[in-house]
Amino acid sequence: MKILFVTSEVHPLVKTGGLADVSAALPAALQVLGEDVRLLIPGYSRVLEKLENKRIVASFSVFPGQPEVKLLSAKMPDTDVPVYVLDAPLYFCRVAGPYQYELGGDWPDNAMRFGMLSKVAAMLGSAASPVAWRADIVHCNDWQSGLAPAYLHLNEDVHAKSVMTIHNIAFQGNFDRDWLEPLNLPQSCFDMHGVEFHGYLSFLKAGLHYADRIVSVSPTYAREIQTTEMGYGMQGLLTARNGDVSGILNGIDENEWDPATDKHLSARYDSRDLTPKADGKMALQQRLGLEVKARAPLLGVVSRLTYQKGLDMLLECLPKLLDGGAQLVVLGSGEADLERRYQQLAQRYPGRVSVTVRFDEALSHQIMAGADIFLMPSRFEPCGLNQMYGMHYGTPPVVRRTGGLADSVSDASLEDGTGFMFDEATPAALYRTVVAAIDCYRDLPRFHSLQLNGMRRDVGWRASAQKYIELYRKIE
Ligand code: ADP
Repeated sequence: MKILFVTSEVHPLVKTGGLADVSAALPAALQVLGEDVRLLIPGYSRVLEKLENKRIVASFSVFPGQPEVKLLSAKMPDTDVPVYVLDAPLYFCRVAGPYQYELGGDWPDNAMRFGMLSKVAAMLGSAASPVAWRADIVHCNDWQSGLAPAYLHLNEDVHAKSVMTIHNIAFQGNFDRDWLEPLNLPQSCFDMHGVEFHGYLSFLKAGLHYADRIVSVSPTYAREIQTTEMGYGMQGLLTARNGDVSGILNGIDENEWDPATDKHLSARYDSRDLTPKADGKMALQQRLGLEVKARAPLLGVVSRLTYQKGLDMLLECLPKLLDGGAQLVVLGSGEADLERRYQQLAQRYPGRVSVTVRFDEALSHQIMAGADIFLMPSRFEPCGLNQMYGMHYGTPPVVRRTGGLADSVSDASLEDGTGFMFDEATPAALYRTVVAAIDCYRDLPRFHSLQLNGMRRDVGWRASAQKYIELYRKIE
């Protein structure tokens, strides 16, 4: 089976969140299972800089009147998964982020940028493929590749089947309908049964309408997005297509995330001996200017600082937790107000709270290893990877029972417990659960068995990659 995995970010080339980790690990796992899988990604400057041995394999015009683009071919660093790069410098070689400019606003031509990506994905799955390889399955991820199933459907050639994975339904790629023409979409598809979503051209809606199968990144989230509360307006369509919707839990990339081999750690460890984890904690405390105290419960957060992640609730209960002797380390960036409030907290609690507002891959690994308890009180969480990294690193997570958090963590009250769970999205419920986690941390044997349960749990990609293969086979 030839599978094209289309994504707007992939680790270690470009990353803003979990999609990049999934885009690196799932194709690699599919390749190990014997599939001919290739990636398609935009040629952002940093992708072109980091990717070695690129070859031009095609030059063509994507939309009428547009300058020619190039398709480059290379191999992903570390895994050797083949990757096609859409080299269109006018659209992708820009300073700042893949979706936004420096001040946090979306690039005004995002519709064209990702419309082009989607169109090229569809071409690679049809007779018009610009290279001597044609996908049987085009696997799209989030709104940025959501138009690909529409282009495939509207194409009269023999074409590939498509799968649309929803990593976060809150991001939909909704644009003015004037984009239809430049994106070479017929006005006839601007309909409720097409690409239209409440008067807008919606990339995600297009993907959900036209894809042969829809996957969400956890079974619980697959159910949640079919409800009014959590469907962000897409629940009607998803409920109507219920038979085509499934949930496949993400895994973690154990080559990147393993405390026994992690290149970002000075003190590595595994489940047979957790002693070096304490050295990692001390090193982290020292480096971040926290008081070096071996037994002060160190709470860790690595996250986008957004409403979704529930970190405003955490702010409300932190003073009590800190006054009780806990320490906090936060790594994250996002909403300006949350960034500011966390920075103020760090000023108020010198030596007890450390806040780093930037993206820092190495520090994220060091926090995962050095913290005692990882906090993830998300209001909603399609899958979430950090709770799995936490479990894998012997840093039990505190999570709200939602989406992938509900599917991947078992509560400490159970024999196979791996973390601490709460239901209500309130500061009081979060506070009670963190206090319970700290109490457990002070009960060494109990905490140790929780750590071991988490470290021994299979959170790798193999089983989930196998489920994706079964799904591809059903529609091929
Ligand atoms: P989401 O995709 O919603 O942001 P996930 O938990 O699925 O959440 O994945 C987040 C990924 O991004 C993880 O690999 C996490 O370590 C990483 N991450 C988030 N913020 C930062 C940051 N400031 N620095 C480094 N890594 C970060």
